[in-house]
Amino acid sequence: MQLTKLEIKGFKSFGDKITINFNDGVTAIVGPNGCGKSNVVDAIRWVLGEQSTKMLRSDKMENIIFNGTKNRKPANLAEVSLTFNNNNNILPTEFSTVTVTRKLFRNGDSEYRLNDVKCRLKDITDLFLDTGVGADSYSIIELKMIDEIINNKDNSRRNLFEEASGISKYKVRKKQTLAKLRDTEADLSRVDDLLYEITKNLKSLENQAKKAEKYTLLKGEYRQSSIDLAYYRIADFSTDLERLQSQESKVQKDSANAQQAILDTEISLQSLRQTNLEQEKNLSV
Ligand code: ATP
Repeated sequence: MQLTKLEIKGFKSFGDKITINFNDGVTAIVGPNGCGKSNVVDAIRWVLGEQSTKMLRSDKMENIIFNGTKNRKPANLAEVSLTFNNNNNILPTEFSTVTVTRKLFRNGDSEYRLNDVKCRLKDITDLFLDTGVGADSYSIIELKMIDEIINNKDNSRRNLFEEASGISKYKVRKKQTLAKLRDTEADLSRVDDLLYEITKNLKSLENQAKKAEKYTLLKGEYRQSSIDLAYYRIADFSTDLERLQSQESKVQKDSANAQQAILDTEISLQSLRQTNLEQEKNLSV
């Protein structure tokens, strides 16, 4: 694996885009004090995912964006791309050329890219894990870091050997797995809490369901009883109706008989009156 190209634009002292090609034989960058040599190293560190502003010799991340000069406006975007030749497949990817890019906008937005495809910082750190390349790996060593390694500050010697021997990725994975395990345990205890709550609610819901069931049963019975009652009432009404109808026809018959009797009586009264009249006539003669 070989570093082949570094492109910097809007990063620290590099207002204009510069491209450094690391052709065969390039082993050092030289230049007068303050010309930006360390900024080149900072750019490499930064594009590999450095998060510490101190390591980038800056107060805050925004200050790594080109601040402008007397005659130039500050930049709104810092962008660095680093290209590797991966012919020997040291990087775990099928690409023979790998370009990592990092961008930072003045409004705080940032972006990582792998071969111009948006990705997460984790994708970049995973890609370079145990290759010796990385923001805090042994491929970028400052003068003060040599002192730290000699004095074994913060176990730095062990970290260096672990990275070089290729076990860092397993340590990182172990750390990630342990973190996941902790998260899962936390989730599990939340599930337990939820289960307790649900069981509690379940009891009250069971009671409510029983009451609802009883209510439905009673409502059904009430409905049936109402229908039966109505049925009996209708039957009673029909009997009464029949009885009243027969009474009515009897009364009508009696009334017709009485009318006939009245008629007969009136006829005989008429005949009696006639007889009476004739007798009165005979008497007067
Ligand atoms: P030395 O050899 O003394 O260590 P160097 O060549 O490594 O110097 P650097 O430290 O890389 O130089 O660059 C320092 C220069 O970068 C300074 O002139 C500083 O003003 C400039 N610089 C740093 N940050 C920015 C920024 N955000 N915008 C513009 N210029 C910046």
